[in-house]
Order: sequence, then C-alpha cells, then structure tokens
Amino acid sequence: MPVVGVLALQGDFAEHIVVLRRLGVETREVRLPGELEGLDALIIPGGESTTIGKLAHDYQLIEPLRALGAEKPIWGTCAGAIFLSKDATRVKQGQPLLGLMDITIQRNAFGRQVDSFETALNVPVLAAFDPANPPFEAVFIRAPLIESVDAPDVEVLARLDSETIVAARQGHLLATSFHPELNQDDRFHQYFLSLIPD
Ligand code: GLN
Repeated sequence: MPVVGVLALQGDFAEHIVVLRRLGVETREVRLPGELEGLDALIIPGGESTTIGKLAHDYQLIEPLRALGAEKPIWGTCAGAIFLSKDATRVKQGQPLLGLMDITIQRNAFGRQVDSFETALNVPVLAAFDPANPPFEAVFIRAPLIESVDAPDVEVLARLDSETIVAARQGHLLATSFHPELNQDDRFHQYFLSLIPD
C-alpha cells in the first residue's frame, strides 16, 4: 500500500488528505525533511507559492524535495505547480523553485477580473477511471497557466482553449493550474496514484 505525502507548510493540504483518505490511501503531512523518508509520492498543494517556497527554504526542504522528485511521483497543484517548475514568470524576485519539471509557468495569469472561476475541462487521460469520461469541473483560484512545455517528453493533459495549457505530465511529475481537491471528483487523484510504480 503506497504512502503519499502532502506538503503541509501552507495552503490547502487538508483537502488533498481528505481525497486521498477517501481513496483508501495512507497519507502523511510533511513539514520536515525526515518526513519525506519512505514516501512513494508527494502532493504539493495550492496556496501561495512565495510562502511555500520561503518555508521550504527555511525548513531545509529544497534539496530533499529535489532528490525525492528525481525518483518519485510529485504532483503540484496551482501554487505547487509553480514551485515544481523549472521556470516561472511574474514570480517574486528570489522566489525559490524546485526546478524539477520542464515547464514555464506564469503566476497569477488570469488577472484580477477573473480571479477565480470554474470550468469544465476535457481531459482524455481520465477516461482510464470512467469510460464515459465526463468533463472535469476544474476550480481556478488566482491560478497560473503553463506558458510552455520545454522538453519533448512533457505531455499536455488539458487546455482551457487552443492555447492555454492547464495540466501537464513529465514522466512521474504532474502539474495542474487548478484545484482538483476542491470537488467531489477524484479522478485526477486516481490518475496521480497511477503514476506510482507497483
Ligand atoms: N496565486 C498563487 C501563487 O502565486 C497560487 C494560487 C493558488 O494556489 N490557488 O502562488
């Protein structure tokens, strides 16, 4: 049975834990480097990427997180996706990034007028968990967008329109601009769990 950690420095880690428990997965809140030991995968939640980055730096988590991500699945949602990226625009100067995933992400990409919104996304890979594959109701909150995928092995999983990438995977790394933990649809979490090798 895999153990999935959720980085619990700031943001909506508790909501991810609720979903993981609902799926019968053993979970652990991670605040200290030692708590990464023995994990099979990790979720970095949404919140405020500047704060998550600063706390991760202060708690000496940056290098242990990079080491984990070299081997094990990591999923960054919203602020977590910013933190996971190799390159980010509109971030604060000196904001720490893990630099694990070959994507360029634009922070606060949707402007003030459309701070938060919900939209139905077509996500072909989720068909594995429901053959009818209904659209995924995605909640965006001061969300980033994925400006570009910067390596041939980065797969685009969902777009808002023909241009705007909002979910991508590179091997065992997953990034979503939105918050799949905020609805009752667990398919994105199931998809992430499917990235854990048997
Ligand atoms: N705007 C936040 C940031 O830049 C992300 C918002 C979120 O995670 N919902 O970190």
